Amino acid sequence: MATRPGPFNIDDVRYILGPDGTGTPKTVTPCPPKPFSGRRRFPVLSLLLVLLSLQLSAEPLEVTRIRQLTQENTAAALNLYREFLRLPNDALYPQDIMKLLSWLEGEFTQRGFSTRRIATAGSPLLLAERLNPGAEKTVLVYLQADGQPVDPAAWEQPNPFEPTLKEEISTGQWEKIPWDSLNEDLDQDWRIFARSAADSKGPMTQFMIAVENLDRAGYRLPYNLKVIIDTEEELGSPNLPDAVNHNRDVLAADMLLIFDGPPHASNKPTVVFGARGIMTVQLVTYGPVTPQHSGHYGNYAPNPALRMAQILGSMKSDTGRVLLAGFYDGVRLDTETRNRLALVPDDEPAIKRRLGIAETDQVGASLQEAIQYPSLNIRGLSAGWVNQQARTIIPATATAELDIRLVKESDPQRLLGLLRKHIESLGYTILERAPTIEQRLQNPRLLRMTHEFSYGAFRSDFDAAPGRMARAGLQHLYGEEPILIRTMGGSIPIAPFVEALDLPAAIVPTVNIDNNQHSPNENLRLGNFIEGIAMIMSVLGREP
Ligand SMILES: [Zn+2]
Repeated sequence: MATRPGPFNIDDVRYILGPDGTGTPKTVTPCPPKPFSGRRRFPVLSLLLVLLSLQLSAEPLEVTRIRQLTQENTAAALNLYREFLRLPNDALYPQDIMKLLSWLEGEFTQRGFSTRRIATAGSPLLLAERLNPGAEKTVLVYLQADGQPVDPAAWEQPNPFEPTLKEEISTGQWEKIPWDSLNEDLDQDWRIFARSAADSKGPMTQFMIAVENLDRAGYRLPYNLKVIIDTEEELGSPNLPDAVNHNRDVLAADMLLIFDGPPHASNKPTVVFGARGIMTVQLVTYGPVTPQHSGHYGNYAPNPALRMAQILGSMKSDTGRVLLAGFYDGVRLDTETRNRLALVPDDEPAIKRRLGIAETDQVGASLQEAIQYPSLNIRGLSAGWVNQQARTIIPATATAELDIRLVKESDPQRLLGLLRKHIESLGYTILERAPTIEQRLQNPRLLRMTHEFSYGAFRSDFDAAPGRMARAGLQHLYGEEPILIRTMGGSIPIAPFVEALDLPAAIVPTVNIDNNQHSPNENLRLGNFIEGIAMIMSVLGREP
């Protein structure tokens, strides 16, 4: 158990929050230098006294109070964050995950939660609960504890698990500054660099501090709060669907809130209502048993790379539309949906410039419309050798790696069936493993097809309970409707909850978009770290 320093001091850090958490001028107000060492914990006794003296709160906390509490508790938040970032969390090392779970159990317990581990075939999940006698509704929150692997050599700091404070210098480089700089002036544009800074120890810390701040305000959440903590998200949450199915009772709730990821590219407050699912497919075509001299056998031995090119080429039009009959079936964007998608302020000329593309695939009329449809993407392609290694051969095989992003309307098995049928219509015999010599001699066109399903899509209504709560919270804080994203293009393992527990869900993103998530030099901007705490306070402080 960590030591408990004296009472919390509200004067540790002073700064002015920008209204949108970014893009604001550097707003620094000096404050008296104070030592910034040691964790400041909210004393458990005073927490209990506060809780005992309360009724269920119906009125939301005033914005000025949210801002004040966020500011007062920033030093403690940064200390908690630093301690958390120092704990290795690569899901491939279960012993590190177990240490991480012990730490989280301690932190959640200190904030009035009871915790229990939910066993899975891999690392356990952690469930933290604050049940509230008299509350009718239960809010389930999904958070992620594990992180991507690290390659320390690729980082511009010795240890990705030693959080490093940096500021941007005129060349656009990031330069280390002493952690103690936080004692004096806090610049919102400084960033903390560490693995999982943004994905997703930032949101987890913001959540813990938001709950603590609400307690500090004497605000009692008007619902039961359950928090499910995933420890294998970066592995694709392979054990999550089973765990959810086997624990429906303990996970039962009325709605699901997720605090994860960056907001819309404009960095304006955002609520996301869905995510595409994903499955991957590998295709292999076969030529001669071993690579052959292209002079000796060119014009004679069929080339598997050409075959693969023809197969792939037949799957899509030259405007990027999938040609498999029925691939887009079921997706209908009515006028109201189109109008809502059009409200998302995407700067498409800027996106095209950033991507360096002259024209876009003609699947939807805009980026937002395009990601409402399933996609079929060639994510990798290989045959023979290229560049310095290029050689005059007919390759033995060609391999294509595909990913299919799924939407709510697209059943993965149906799309896989369409793909299979299309390939068969081109005269191919589909195998599950490499062909034998007999199969090769009997079938001129052989193709191996294997697939892996990761997770399905989900999409909830803008007006379902979690969407109402998230929108009301952000409207309260900013005085305007946040950006509403019907479906984000990427995939997160939320569908198992939505399906097995029959819950509507909404995602409130709280980290800067340029955070190098999954890459070396992952970071979180201080302004976004602080603003995210206020956002989560405001969202949790609404009636579900
Ligand atoms: Zn991730």
